[in-house]
Amino acid sequence: MILVSACLAGLDSKYNGKNNYNGYIEKLVREGKAIMICPEQMGGLPTPRDSCEIACGAGGDVLAGKAKVIDSKGQNQTEKFLKGARETLKVARLYNIKKAILKSKSPSCGFGRIYDGTFSGKLIEGNGVTAELLSGNGFEVMTEEDIPKK
Ligand code: SF4
Repeated sequence: MILVSACLAGLDSKYNGKNNYNGYIEKLVREGKAIMICPEQMGGLPTPRDSCEIACGAGGDVLAGKAKVIDSKGQNQTEKFLKGARETLKVARLYNIKKAILKSKSPSCGFGRIYDGTFSGKLIEGNGVTAELLSGNGFEVMTEEDIPKK
């Protein structure tokens, strides 16, 4: 069983009320091989919502209390991102999952590269909050950029 970002399976869970559909991910869910999670919704954020980025750091810094997640209006959304990451880990443990395919570049789900916190489209090296928590707990994490599109 694999954990997958819900927006990749076609759920309209993205900040703008849309999705990041990937046929390969949808097939995994249809075949009962994947469980969908959306850490931002599970942390209590609404959909649609203001887009968020990690300010001055990456997911590890947020988990360590050294960086914040802010939305495009400047509101601090850190606690909701932390809750969403913890709830995702809880789901993974309930299903005994050790592998995740998550949405690239997201402040929650991104793995390897994320937006830099300036809302300008620039990327930095690092992981989103949930991806970091999963990785730190021994999960194999990848993104949709590592798998087929269909
Ligand atoms: S938090 Fe993850 S699953 Fe939810 S919309 Fe953002 S990228 Fe997709």
